[in-house]
Amino acid sequence: MSILSIFDAANTAETAATAASITSSNASPGASSVVAGAAPGAVTEGVTGGVTRAEAADRPLPAVVGADLLVPLADGRQVPYANLDYAASAPCLEPVRAAVAEALPAYSSVHRGAGYASRLTTARYERARHTVRAFAGARPGDAVVFTRNTTDAMNLLARCLPEGTTVVVFDSEHHASLLPWSRAVRLAPPPSPGEAVRAADRALAEIDGPKLLVVTAASNVTGELWPIAALAHVAHERGARIAVDAAQYAPHRRLAVAALDLDYVAFSGHKLYAPFGAGALVGRPDWLAQAEPYLRGGGATRNVADEVEWSADPEQRHEAGTPNVLGAIALAAACEALTATGWTPIVRHEERLTARLRAGLPEGVRELALWGPDHPRIGVVSFTVAGHPAREVAEILSTEYGIGVRDGRFCAHPFVRALLGEDGDCADGTGAAVRASIGIGTTEEHIDRLITALHDIVRR
Ligand code: PMP
Repeated sequence: MSILSIFDAANTAETAATAASITSSNASPGASSVVAGAAPGAVTEGVTGGVTRAEAADRPLPAVVGADLLVPLADGRQVPYANLDYAASAPCLEPVRAAVAEALPAYSSVHRGAGYASRLTTARYERARHTVRAFAGARPGDAVVFTRNTTDAMNLLARCLPEGTTVVVFDSEHHASLLPWSRAVRLAPPPSPGEAVRAADRALAEIDGPKLLVVTAASNVTGELWPIAALAHVAHERGARIAVDAAQYAPHRRLAVAALDLDYVAFSGHKLYAPFGAGALVGRPDWLAQAEPYLRGGGATRNVADEVEWSADPEQRHEAGTPNVLGAIALAAACEALTATGWTPIVRHEERLTARLRAGLPEGVRELALWGPDHPRIGVVSFTVAGHPAREVAEILSTEYGIGVRDGRFCAHPFVRALLGEDGDCADGTGAAVRASIGIGTTEEHIDRLITALHDIVRR
């Protein structure tokens, strides 16, 4: 057996096993409440591998790198870091670090090398593509293009739209999903999920020619889950496609591209516990295969003479140059680790801590929400503090309590403006807010420290 066939055999077996375990948890998403828009707390998963639901809920969460990080305070003390900034970038999972460490000794070029290391690295890179496809719950023929991040994935999709495509997008989107389109209809943030569906339906009905609805699955400002299944339905009824920004959703809920009938999803490794610079665009291959290559260069070509013949394969076509192999391997390792853990314990952990934080917020702290406090959300809590600018609050939290949060407008200026009010209705008058965000490594102590700190700040 040649070296390559050994790799192929090992790779196929591993890939099949991974895909089987991932798709088994994606098998009946309609029956699971961890998909978008589901009621909080009502998490269900099938019984897999002889593990009961109760046992699955107790399965330990993977460890994060840096859980014991010490940070200096203004008074010279050092305290364990309370990372409440997962929505910006999540820490690396230990299994992700291990996968990268395992891949490094054989790290080599992919696709064109004849050497052992190059073939092994190529096998790992292409296996990562299968894993990411399965993690997304995508259709077998869907393309997985490795990108730098969600911003890159959405810009790639923008370049692949058929000529004359009109994009419908809500003003509540992150700039990555709001700005890449050359022809867009922008809708005001809708007052309810039902109105989101009706507004999208009305806007799409008025458009002739190719059309695409772009929407986030979970807001990076409020954490609220969007009704993506219903939005996919109206998009298709109107002859449009739907692209979902899953940057915030993918690390916290199970993606189900095929079952929800989504055409494209985009997400980022660094928010998915794999901070090695890779993201992905997953979805229907036809527009990608017909578009101009995203980058012109080696790897995207079939033959170059006076004329250039570009690869018809949508993945090769848009991955010119040497790809971020370790980033892709890391992203796939994170997908595997999350899938092996199961969504039930992850969602339970995050919902418990989010509820604890919200219940403990003192008077004078105003939470941001588009659809009210009870709408299902991931572990994102954005707020303003009466009489204290967001920047000041974030700095106090960092320098006096060792807590990391984000402050500002979260690359969603129109949305934050709409939530706070055009005329500085915001409590601090700066048009900015503070965001605490929760993930796998968050502890009760982190949450309690934030609550204590906010009680202290509102009294100042
Ligand atoms: N969409 C959403 C909802 C986000 O939260 C972010 C990151 N804050 C992005 C897109 C952009 O992600 P990236 O910076 O990884 O491109």
